[in-house]
Amino acid sequence: MSSSPASPLPSDLSPVPTLSPHDTGGLGGHPRGLTNLFFTEMWERFSYYGMRALLTLFMVAPAAAGGLGYDTKRATLIYGTYTMTVYMLSIPGGFLADNFLGARASVLYGGLVIAAGHFTLALQSESAFYLGLVLIALGTGLLKPNISSMVGSLYGNGDPRRDAGFSIFYMGINLGAFSSPLLTGWLAQSDQFKVMLTGWGLDPNHSWHWGFAAAGVGMTCGIVIYILQLGRLAHVGLAPARDIPRPWGKLLGVLLGAAILFALVRLSDTNKNFAWIRYGYVVVPVLAIIWLGLKADLDSKRLAAVFVFALAAIIFWAIFEQAGSTISLFGDQLTNCEFFGYKFPSAWFQSVNSLFVILLAPLFAWLWVRMGDRQPSAPIKFTLGLVFLGLSFVLMVPAAKLTVDGKVSPLWIVGLFFLQTVGELMLSPVGLSTMTKLAPAKLLGLVMGIWFLAAALGNKLAGVLAAEFTSTDGNALAHFFLVQAAWVGVATLVLLAFAPWVKKLMGGVK
Ligand code: GLN
Repeated sequence: MSSSPASPLPSDLSPVPTLSPHDTGGLGGHPRGLTNLFFTEMWERFSYYGMRALLTLFMVAPAAAGGLGYDTKRATLIYGTYTMTVYMLSIPGGFLADNFLGARASVLYGGLVIAAGHFTLALQSESAFYLGLVLIALGTGLLKPNISSMVGSLYGNGDPRRDAGFSIFYMGINLGAFSSPLLTGWLAQSDQFKVMLTGWGLDPNHSWHWGFAAAGVGMTCGIVIYILQLGRLAHVGLAPARDIPRPWGKLLGVLLGAAILFALVRLSDTNKNFAWIRYGYVVVPVLAIIWLGLKADLDSKRLAAVFVFALAAIIFWAIFEQAGSTISLFGDQLTNCEFFGYKFPSAWFQSVNSLFVILLAPLFAWLWVRMGDRQPSAPIKFTLGLVFLGLSFVLMVPAAKLTVDGKVSPLWIVGLFFLQTVGELMLSPVGLSTMTKLAPAKLLGLVMGIWFLAAALGNKLAGVLAAEFTSTDGNALAHFFLVQAAWVGVATLVLLAFAPWVKKLMGGVK
């Protein structure tokens, strides 16, 4: 490639043109880079959720039907540990990006490792299965926090489009999440595809692996789009300058910390005497908030605010992530899966949340832009997120009581997902956006890692809470929902009370 000295700015495909604050060439008048990150993340989530939809089913399916033949307990344990690890690895992933690779390269390497993971799952062997899970978790740790931080870096300080940009990005996530289970589920489970496999002279019991391979193809599409559209990212996500020494010692510390955290969480799972460790999920962030909040410098105060939001997020995900357990069981065992006379598989409930996100995210994106400076502050948006989350479980109290008389209408679950999605859109994309605003520039990846660590612990707690689910006693089930809603109510009031202080901690960030 030639570039004349008279024109030092290289062509459009160069990875380093400067980003204009008035860049409106991307989706919905947003920076051009958003288009790239939107589609890359859409495909990554396509692969993640497409595979996740099969994971438990594949593990419990008998060997004669091509599955692993595990019992439910073993399968759900592996599932819980896997989903937690995926998010937990965001901490080293974010740190690597900040200090070694830069977010841009991390996303590329992460995508490649994820695709390799899904294709490994496409092989028919138990050791390939575990290797595949490890690869996907490692790759997601590299990709997920860093693609999110790059979205934030597309916007200048104080750009009012930032929250709206994250709402659009979030819509991409859910386009992938909504569509992939439909495809991978059809490949893995439908008789139609099994007949096709037999027709091609292939073993129909291997259909699961076609589903996993489809997830790998999805991730590959994401990688291709990402590479083709790199130029749209301007200067965003470049590696730290070469002459800055790399903090190898700190990297070792972060890796060791993540390993210890993982071991502690597993210990709380497997040994009853150590179940108390779970209180640490709340106590440790509270201590961090107090310690950082009392320091004088602005960065520490902002980090204290990061921990407040992370704590609220743990509580949020602990309820929300019961979608695949509590709500899935409620849908399967206590709900009449019929709509206008059409019988549908209970697994379809899993797409309702994503569908609502797709429908509602544009509304929220529009609302935040429209409200501009008048929009509620992040702590108030989080408070509202918790309010809607709590209401979703309040709604399930009468639904649970009605199950005493038999199966209930699917509209209860649809209503639950509607409320949860409204809450999610107040909290999750706003949280991503707020992290990018609060993080000191050098710690952006790490702060994103903390955000996803909250998701990891929330997923874990969701599993602990869902273990109390019962489908045989409607009144006990009503109590199950009510108690959790009440705890969310308490958390909401605490957050509301502290909102003015959190706003102060944020030091001018809105
Ligand atoms: N559903 C969102 C995603 O897949 C949020 C997940 C989370 O942060 N727990 O990105």
